[in-house]
Amino acid sequence: MNELRWDPTLREWVAYATHRQDRTFLPPKEYCPLCPTKPGGFPTEVPRESYEIAVFENKFPSFVPDAPPPEEAGSELTPTAAGRGVCEVVLYTDDHSATLAVLEERRIRQLVDVWADRYAELGALEFVEYVFIFENKGEAIGVTLHHPHGQIYGYPFIPPRPKKELDAARDYQSEGRGCLHCGLLSREHKDGRRMVVKGDHFSAFVPFYAHFPYEVHVYARRCAPSIADLSADERWDLARVLKRLLVGYDNLFGFSLPYMMVMHQAPTDGKDYEGLAHFHIEFYPPNRTAEKLKYLAGSETGAGAYVMDALPEQTSERLREAVGRAG
Ligand SMILES: [Zn+2]
Ligand SMILES: [Zn+2]
Ligand SMILES: [Zn+2]
Repeated sequence: MNELRWDPTLREWVAYATHRQDRTFLPPKEYCPLCPTKPGGFPTEVPRESYEIAVFENKFPSFVPDAPPPEEAGSELTPTAAGRGVCEVVLYTDDHSATLAVLEERRIRQLVDVWADRYAELGALEFVEYVFIFENKGEAIGVTLHHPHGQIYGYPFIPPRPKKELDAARDYQSEGRGCLHCGLLSREHKDGRRMVVKGDHFSAFVPFYAHFPYEVHVYARRCAPSIADLSADERWDLARVLKRLLVGYDNLFGFSLPYMMVMHQAPTDGKDYEGLAHFHIEFYPPNRTAEKLKYLAGSETGAGAYVMDALPEQTSERLREAVGRAG
């Protein structure tokens, strides 16, 4: 069952996908469904002995392309809709114990191409209004499978958080001030204190207003609306900057750092987002220290107001130092 219900108090859709309760939960390594299928072994999601990068439809999708009409009729105040969309899984490597951080730059560069291709292909579907590329990494984030992988959701609507960002960018632009993200990026460059990795075409920094202690935003220097708009040089640089940042993240506390990685870019609803959407990646690691996690508690969840105990100027310095330690 895939169904959307409208929350008129927050003016956002909530997706219900009841079959997801049967998801595979942290299987032992020998039964990983994302590993290659070994000769004579049990069939995994990938019917090959090895692979580099693989993409397939999520077996437990939050949205499906052929979602039936909603079972609940809803009301004028609380309408329902079919949970129509696409959910894909992107396997980064066939090496079960790898992470994005340990992959070669060349592989991350290939992954950038795969992300760009999926963005274009899913975005071209008439019912997909937003292609959301993301990764949940680590048990602290609630991953159910350890094999290195990310996901892609093709939503039938523009989700609330990117929408809020786009609305802010639209207001900023209508005041004649150009692209909001270009403005933020130029301030971060000028200030410099929160910069973590500066490549030729991408910059990674802890934003002035970080919501997580080690939150990092990776911005395209050029005002490119989506990952599909990046040139070959920009794609190489994105791979390089991601690699350096991720190695730095792992150096920070001396273990493979959990995080959520999300991409914000132009919706695919057919409208023009030139100068409004500016391709960037956001990382939210849950760790405050090696042992302590930041929980989204009453203030964050119920009021939407984040309270932080470390300043971005301090965390970015530690992070920059950890990136510098990279071999
Ligand atoms: Zn595996
Ligand atoms: Zn811009
Ligand atoms: Zn963003």
